[in-house]
Amino acid sequence: MDLAQADWVLISPEAPHRKVYSLDLPLLRRPADYQVLERQLGLDERSLYRLTLNRWATHLQAPEKGAHVVSSASPEQTIGRPLLSRSAVRRIGISLRDIKLCPACLEEEPCYDRLFWRLRLVILCPPHSLLLIDRCPLCHEPIPGLRPVSEKCPYCQRGDYRQIPHALIPSTSLLYQGQLLLLNLLTSEGTTNAKCPSIFAGSPILSVEPWQYFALSERFENLMWLRSSKNPVVQSLKKLAWTDDHVSSESPLIRESAMHMILSHYLLASWPENILTLIDRVAKLTEGQQVGGRMLENVWQTDQVVQHIWSSSSSGNTPFALLLQMFEAFFIWGTFSGFPTSGGERQGHEYLIALLPPAWSESCHSS
Ligand SMILES: [Zn+2]
Ligand SMILES: [Zn+2]
Repeated sequence: MDLAQADWVLISPEAPHRKVYSLDLPLLRRPADYQVLERQLGLDERSLYRLTLNRWATHLQAPEKGAHVVSSASPEQTIGRPLLSRSAVRRIGISLRDIKLCPACLEEEPCYDRLFWRLRLVILCPPHSLLLIDRCPLCHEPIPGLRPVSEKCPYCQRGDYRQIPHALIPSTSLLYQGQLLLLNLLTSEGTTNAKCPSIFAGSPILSVEPWQYFALSERFENLMWLRSSKNPVVQSLKKLAWTDDHVSSESPLIRESAMHMILSHYLLASWPENILTLIDRVAKLTEGQQVGGRMLENVWQTDQVVQHIWSSSSSGNTPFALLLQMFEAFFIWGTFSGFPTSGGERQGHEYLIALLPPAWSESCHSS
């Protein structure tokens, strides 16, 4: 797609002249902006809406937010369709200015960008089995969503986004299968005829709503924030599921997302074998450790988690509640390295609360 003329469609030619800011385009919400673009592009409001990230508002936000128009503006200043909130954009990691690209999609005629490539966790193009790129191969500047020539870096004018070494990601890998699951939940675009990934057969993750998948993903991110040499959960997970040769990207952000995808989807695959293997590993790793004079076993609740997994069908727990509970348990175990080793006056649970990130209590209790 040639975007050389992209800017002029943003300015209304008729009085009153109105400019639609390019950064507002992915989250377009004001009726006046829609009217400018409807006239300029000859599209109706619904078609324009589907070109924005708002189309996934109900997929990325819990129903009480996604079902309603979320805006600080008065009702007549927004369109009557679900809108993605700024806080969801921040939490999910959606880039409004920059985008990721598939080098092979750029080679196609006509070449194209995908709206969902703006999501932090989307890092693979399944049809081409390639990792996306997020920077110029020459100057390493990010890739602006709006740029004059699709394949050329507008910063150095020399970098060609297609000329990046391609390493194929095997379709049987956790990374590939996890990305397929994510894209299936988000949209059927780009994954036409894709069946449910087989490595997740029997896993409760196949029975959750899209917004629940993203809420779980946020929980897992909290666990990754605790990453340290002493976080027993992440350390054990890395030993079980991660090898560096999985991901050949030069981008730290893409490697980070790849690790998130691989480690979190390891837990959800080969159900419930992988999760039991992890519990076993963590239990061995922390065996005999003392916390504030109390044995860890007192706060572990390992048995409860295992019991929940086996009896989930009869306990009345929804698949989402079960997975959320598990992810929360892993988070708490991950904080064990934060306990004082001796002489602590505070009780264990106080340390746990003090270690919780602020986002922790926000949206997980809406099941
Ligand atoms: Zn592609
Ligand atoms: Zn460049």
